Amino acid sequence: MSYKITLIPGDGTGPEISQVTKRVLDATGVKIDWEVVEAGSDVAEKYGTPLPENVINSIRKNKVAIKGPITTPIGSGFRSVNVALRKELDLYACLRPCKSYIGVKSKYENINLVVIRENTEDLYAGVEFDINTDATGQIIKLSEGKIRSDSAISIKPISRFATERIVKFAFEYARKNKRKKVTAVTKANIMKFTDGLFLETAREVAKNYSDIEYEERLIDNMCMQLVQKPELYDVLVLPNLYGDIISDLCAGLIGGLGIAPGANIGEGIALFEPVHGSAPKYKGLDKVNPTAMILSGVLMLDYLGEKKAAEKLEKAVKTVIAEKKVVTYDLGGTAKTSEMADEIIRKLRVKG
Ligand code: NAD
Repeated sequence: MSYKITLIPGDGTGPEISQVTKRVLDATGVKIDWEVVEAGSDVAEKYGTPLPENVINSIRKNKVAIKGPITTPIGSGFRSVNVALRKELDLYACLRPCKSYIGVKSKYENINLVVIRENTEDLYAGVEFDINTDATGQIIKLSEGKIRSDSAISIKPISRFATERIVKFAFEYARKNKRKKVTAVTKANIMKFTDGLFLETAREVAKNYSDIEYEERLIDNMCMQLVQKPELYDVLVLPNLYGDIISDLCAGLIGGLGIAPGANIGEGIALFEPVHGSAPKYKGLDKVNPTAMILSGVLMLDYLGEKKAAEKLEKAVKTVIAEKKVVTYDLGGTAKTSEMADEIIRKLRVKG
């Protein structure tokens, strides 16, 4: 059996880690027919957009995709290819497992958390305006699309529909993966309507899962708790913005962005990608850690039902990291991206 899978190399360091991830995934023996499509700032001029239509069409058709990171210009220009892809394909659940690996320098050990972030609404909906006011502070014009006036406003949509499905996703994930607890994280004490609705809906959904413990935390307290007692937590479910921030915090707990994988999942469709961005300062240097994207590939193999290949690949990655002989700079080594990937492939070929 062969899987047709869309590969988006991305920009910045994306193409380097995508290329080696493709090699590593091929070395697992799982047959993949790759459909490579381009997106990102490097190709924006060529196509007149950083997100050409054929990229969306390819993912819609193949139903499974893996991508390298894509740069998002700050403050101006195209909003975000990443956010657009998630919205366009309704990839409503962002799954980010954070696991400690032996050999990675961190103040923490035995972290095994899963962050499940709502991917379609909240302040990421991109409903923003600039506000022009007259001398008395009265709004005289509200216009979309322009930036850099004296003040601005952002709308935070939260719906029962989207909250129900993400919290359900979190509980179903917990059940399937033998996890014990789901924690819903909000700031419902202050944002009583939006986060209040998220919390109320989470409580309703939790009632259908009496086999899994449910608890709630406020986002500020959650940050402190994760830094002080991360072992108390298991699966976290959060609205979009908090989920984004907490994902990076959890990546920090396990020793950095270089080893944090991710997946964006919708109904019968999924896009896998590392948590980290395009790290443009290292572009073309064959220097960054390919692990986060390779582990995103492990999540992809697992999603495809290729459990054995997923386990074997994760074991190979773990061994290379634990041995610390052929690892990239962020893991205390001097190996290049491609050399670390070659070492992972060598481990994959070891029998047993
Ligand atoms: P970043 O994750 O690209 O890099 C931050 C720092 O983390 C890097 O300078 C580097 O020191 C380290 N780092 C990141 N990835 C690493 C790796 N694989 N190996 C070793 N070290 C690594 O974050 P940023 O600088 O804030 O973002 C750069 C661009 O990427 C921005 O335009 C941002 O919007 C975009 N971005 C894209 C995605 C995505 O495509 N899904 C996600 C996050 C950020």
